[in-house]
Amino acid sequence: MLDYDLHCHSTVSDGLLSPTGLVAHAAERGVKVLALTDHDDMDGLDEARAAAAQHGMQFINGVEISVTWRNNVTVHLVGLNIDPAYPPLAAGVASVRQGRVERARKMADSLAAAGIGGVLEGAYQYAGNPEMIGRTHFARYMVESGHAKDVSSVFKHYLVKGKPGFVPHEWAALTDAVGWIVGSGGIAVLAHPGRYTVGRKVMGKPTMRELLQEFIGLGGRGIEVVSGSHTPQQVAEAARYAVEFGLLASCGSDYHGPGESYRDMGQLPDFPLGCRPVWEAWETRHDAPVLKAQNG
Ligand code: AMP
Ligand code: MN
Ligand code: MN
Ligand code: MN
Repeated sequence: MLDYDLHCHSTVSDGLLSPTGLVAHAAERGVKVLALTDHDDMDGLDEARAAAAQHGMQFINGVEISVTWRNNVTVHLVGLNIDPAYPPLAAGVASVRQGRVERARKMADSLAAAGIGGVLEGAYQYAGNPEMIGRTHFARYMVESGHAKDVSSVFKHYLVKGKPGFVPHEWAALTDAVGWIVGSGGIAVLAHPGRYTVGRKVMGKPTMRELLQEFIGLGGRGIEVVSGSHTPQQVAEAARYAVEFGLLASCGSDYHGPGESYRDMGQLPDFPLGCRPVWEAWETRHDAPVLKAQNG
């Protein structure tokens, strides 16, 4: 079992627990090294870091950035060990959040045209951070207001391609998002590769290889192999990509809160053989002991 969890969400994006509550939950679940990776926002990091220190847990600054690759393929990048104060990164994710606010208005208009009104105000009631409005907040409101039995059925019937609440959206460009992460000193990781689709089809191997080649050419160094949203087959496939492309392997539950996640935090299965863990990138830094000696 891995005691690293490098992908999860708090109320700063679309998670249900505050950064402090999330860290406490991670500690209960045996997590020893945690990265908080809220969507397009880094405002929870200070609080989570302080809480992690209380639990004797190592904390890694993270973020999950929404990206549009080519014309219309949405992919997510996890940035690990980033510097949230790096101005291009802070400004970059702020621009993505601005786009979210505009998309939310269009989603609500589109639902209203389909006869479902009042959803924008409703969704905002569920957004812990009004700048970081997303489909999950719409889904939670639509469950509460009786449009569907649970969050996944709201997605299925209203919020995915071809459904009334779905509007196409242009997220950050791949080159920009990788640049923000790497420029801040972080490691760019392709999140949950098993989840990507082109149109309504799962992304085929040739397309995935093109994405990985481009990602690596821009400075990307990691791929999520173990993800709460991967089947065992998808874990194995991501591990093959990691080995084939020389990428570092990352792991994370992608936890969003009690009752809403594919998988609870912590106790993630080990990497398949041949994977090099992403934490090699920061745990084997040769300058670390020197810096410590200078400071001490
Ligand atoms: P957004 O970035 O606002 O488009 O929303 C994406 C988020 O919606 C993901 O990070 C998940 O938290 C959630 N999500 C996406 N698809 C589903 C689904 N089928 N069921 C439940 N939650 C989903
Ligand atoms: Mn989410
Ligand atoms: Mn994601
Ligand atoms: Mn996520």
